Amino acid sequence: MLCFHCEQPARGVCRFCGRALCKEHMTNRMPYIITIYVGEQNVPKAIVVGDALWCNVCKPQPEPIEMPEIY
Ligand SMILES: [Zn+2]
Ligand SMILES: [Zn+2]
Repeated sequence: MLCFHCEQPARGVCRFCGRALCKEHMTNRMPYIITIYVGEQNVPKAIVVGDALWCNVCKPQPEPIEMPEIY
């Protein structure tokens, strides 16, 4: 696989969209939300991985978006 940005051999992939990234373009990082659950007193809580690889192209949403059309 080649880097999406510069076509060098890829060393990783964007955690959000799967685009391939080389070492140089792996410098973009975003917190990655693994899951969200409702904790005590109905407070939504998120389990987040900091420092996930990000391609700088796709647009991860900070919150899950509703997708009623998939039903
Ligand atoms: Zn690159
Ligand atoms: Zn991406």
